Amino acid sequence: MMNDHRKLGRELELFDTDPLIGAGLPYWLPAGAAVRQALEDYVREAERRAGYQHVSSPVLGKKELYQISGHWDHYSDDMFPPMKVGAEEVVLRPSLCPHHALIFRSRGRSYRELPLRIAELGGMYRSELSGVLGGLTRVRAIQLNDAHIFCTLDQAVDEARAALELIGRAHRDLGIRPVRYQLSLPGAGGKYVANPEIWERARGLLGEVLSGVDHVAVEGEAAFYGPKIDVQIADPAGRESTLSTVQIDFHQPERFGLEYTGADGGRHRPVMVHRSIIGSLERAVAHLIEVHGGAFPAWMAPVQVVALPISEAEIPEAATFVARCVDAGLRARLAGPEAGGLGARIRDARLVPYSAVIGAREAGAGAVALRLRDGRKLDAMPVGEAVQRIAGLTAAHALDLWDAPA
Ligand SMILES: [Zn+2]
Repeated sequence: MMNDHRKLGRELELFDTDPLIGAGLPYWLPAGAAVRQALEDYVREAERRAGYQHVSSPVLGKKELYQISGHWDHYSDDMFPPMKVGAEEVVLRPSLCPHHALIFRSRGRSYRELPLRIAELGGMYRSELSGVLGGLTRVRAIQLNDAHIFCTLDQAVDEARAALELIGRAHRDLGIRPVRYQLSLPGAGGKYVANPEIWERARGLLGEVLSGVDHVAVEGEAAFYGPKIDVQIADPAGRESTLSTVQIDFHQPERFGLEYTGADGGRHRPVMVHRSIIGSLERAVAHLIEVHGGAFPAWMAPVQVVALPISEAEIPEAATFVARCVDAGLRARLAGPEAGGLGARIRDARLVPYSAVIGAREAGAGAVALRLRDGRKLDAMPVGEAVQRIAGLTAAHALDLWDAPA
């Protein structure tokens, strides 16, 4: 199969698995961890700019917590069995929502604080029986980009719309094209909480959020507590999965008895908007590997710049160039003549966005001759100019390797 992320993941040394750790429990090698970290930094910064506050909460919770949230009744097939600790029973969390609901509830809340946007890149777990060894798409340990917006009913549509815009912008910066926007509705069967009025209300609001957005309604794909907007991607074999999601939820605030004090001095129940920009880091990176064939956008490439001294004489200048790149926040390395002839080193660096060739002429002039991954060869330019330009392009999440985004 073309660009299977499992094959490329091994070839490019991004991640791997070990039977001793277990199926569905991949670990990240330095190159893959660099991609993942770039993605985490991107998401946290996008959230910070959009007015989210970050929290951090434990990956375990008491069984009782999930009985209250409804996971125990509606989702336990996907949960790991509880662990007994003395008189308590704790479980690996199947979602971050209950912890965030408790963070909202940790003190009295006023309408002046709403919308309160709480975000976390946190661990969650799924007892995937069919965890395919060697892949990132069916895993048992998941790092989720999650957030919950606690708001008034009047604010819910605007907040969900803003979340959808954040998702669209991220897809552009990541070079991802979703296959469809989907309104996921409940289907037959008892896995959904029963409250027709709440379902209808949430469905109506999500319909408003999606007005003007091309989408399809699909039954049987809702969360157990409510309908959701899912942004679907497809793998090279055409198998669809959900990357990003936005949900408007009346159920969890009810279950956890969430309240805020309104302008009228009375107590009101907030609405909870759940949203994920890139879903789990595992699935997002799997998709990025397949979409880009390992040639990631420069801002998330494991190595962004490689310095190629033509002979041993230029190694000191090449090392200085690498140091300046590293100082400017870039991931750069040196590939000297000991790694082979220049042609072979250029081929080895074919997935690196920027190769800087340094011969006697460049070394003497304090310059580098850049070769871009897309085949462009630039005239020699001063080292400072090259470093500044590359750092500027990666900071702006430019998809083009030389032209800054408008
Ligand atoms: Zn949630």
